[in-house]
Amino acid sequence: MEPTTTSVKVLVIGGGPAGSLSAALLARAGVDVLLLEKEVFPRYHIGEALASSCRAVLELAGAVEKVDEFGFMNKHGGLFRWGAEKDWCADWTEMFGPEVRSWSVDRSEFDHLLLNNASDQGARVVQNAAVKRIVFEGDRPVAAEWVSGDAPDQLHTTSFDYVVDASGRAGVLTAQHFRNRTRHEVFRNVAIWGYWDGEELLPDTPQGGSNIISSPDGWYWVIPLRGGRRSVGFVMHETAFRERRRDHDSLEGLLTALVEESDTVRSLLDGDTRISDAKVEQDYSYVSADFCGPGYFVAGDAACFLDPLLSSGVHLASYSALLAAASIVAVLDGEVAESEANAFYESLYRHSYTRMLAMVARMYDQYQGQAGYFWLAQKLTGTPAEQAITPNAAFVEIVGGISDLYDAQHGRGPAESTAAANEDNLHLVELLPRDLYDTDSQLRLVTSPRLGLRREQADTARVRPPRPAADADLTTSR
Ligand SMILES: Cc1cc2nc3c(=O)[nH]c(=O)nc-3n(C[C@H](O)[C@H](O)[C@H](O)COP(=O)(O)OP(=O)(O)OC[C@H]3O[C@@H](n4cnc5c(N)ncnc54)[C@H](O)[C@@H]3O)c2cc1C
Repeated sequence: MEPTTTSVKVLVIGGGPAGSLSAALLARAGVDVLLLEKEVFPRYHIGEALASSCRAVLELAGAVEKVDEFGFMNKHGGLFRWGAEKDWCADWTEMFGPEVRSWSVDRSEFDHLLLNNASDQGARVVQNAAVKRIVFEGDRPVAAEWVSGDAPDQLHTTSFDYVVDASGRAGVLTAQHFRNRTRHEVFRNVAIWGYWDGEELLPDTPQGGSNIISSPDGWYWVIPLRGGRRSVGFVMHETAFRERRRDHDSLEGLLTALVEESDTVRSLLDGDTRISDAKVEQDYSYVSADFCGPGYFVAGDAACFLDPLLSSGVHLASYSALLAAASIVAVLDGEVAESEANAFYESLYRHSYTRMLAMVARMYDQYQGQAGYFWLAQKLTGTPAEQAITPNAAFVEIVGGISDLYDAQHGRGPAESTAAANEDNLHLVELLPRDLYDTDSQLRLVTSPRLGLRREQADTARVRPPRPAADADLTTSR
């Protein structure tokens, strides 16, 4: 077959949350955008518990009402049974108001809704279309070669001004072209999970929230899903997984044994039936050397992946989609130079990832206890203890993805809080030197009258007062 050649202003690779939201936001800003997705949706994906920040980004992308109408379980926070301490909650709604919430979702349905929404907003979406290679001119990507599953012998070439790589862990640019990912060795983990019928969760769990339960060898998640089901999983180091796997003929046997070993999980599932096979994924954490460069932005898991303890994956995907779309719009509009938009994106997204990484690392050190986690969270948000609304407010803010939205909107530089994390000698995670960003780009993200970046003196106030829910538009999406 003859090769075909087309061109587009922005190409988005991948139709997960990072790709669909980037495409929708760009299309709503009037940008000509094409999204290529390898699979045909709906397709299965893990990652069901969503941070409240996702709601804000979905609203900007025109998807929030569709997701609300679909009837996913509303989620207002989560409950931790962690280490030797009594249970503790991250209740976003109690802390920040009734509108600060998200959903627990079946990702096949959620991702399908977001992909259709990208199309509704004006993006061209092609499924069953796998990008095979990115063509460069110098250090700038200029075109993608891709094939459709319907006619695999026909090579298509699409040239573009900008590309958003949102290809998830496949990492078309990062893993396949640049090969610039570094793994975090301490998080060489494996997750095993399945689905159970029934609805029981631990007492005092915020409505629709997950339960996160520690054990000496790892941790469990129990996530409520609509239709009286729960997603139940266990995360452990790969060495432990390999050893445990040898004792069982099947993954289902191993999953059942793991569930039986926890008094808490066993009693939550007592009398209920497993309604799926067991699934397994290595969920190694990694970070790419660059999150963007000339002509490209890498969003979501394509850029970095973090152990799912704090359910941060879709937050990072949607947050980076927002940052990438705003950066591209600002450059196309001539508001900022490309190098400035790159500096803004790299700084904000890396900071967000690093802050989550620091929290997860601290929590893996179970003996630190709540006081230790909350104190670190205060440092990572730059909140002095005497100004905290409650001891756990900063922790709840980070886990809800609210701090990141606030930073993007108010131009808060990341240097101070990242430096605080380093001073704290996080012995589990080595923060790479390039994580110590102080770009002070003087840019902030704006959403009206149009998505973009605005040059402004950074908000130098070290501390922000507690905000009533209504005054922070992005962080309190309606
Ligand atoms: C065990 C486990 C539990 C998790 N739990 C949670 C959770 O509770 N909450 C949470 O927020 N996150 C969770 N996550 C993380 C979450 O799944 C991811 O962070 C999230 O899906 C990232 O979205 P994304 O859009 O970047 O990538 P993806 O959702 O993976 O989407 C990438 C898309 O790109 C497509 N693609 C790949 N290669 C190509 C190509 N060459 N051409 C075209 N298309 C391509 C893929 O088909 C895919 O649809 C979990 C992860 C794991 C492993």
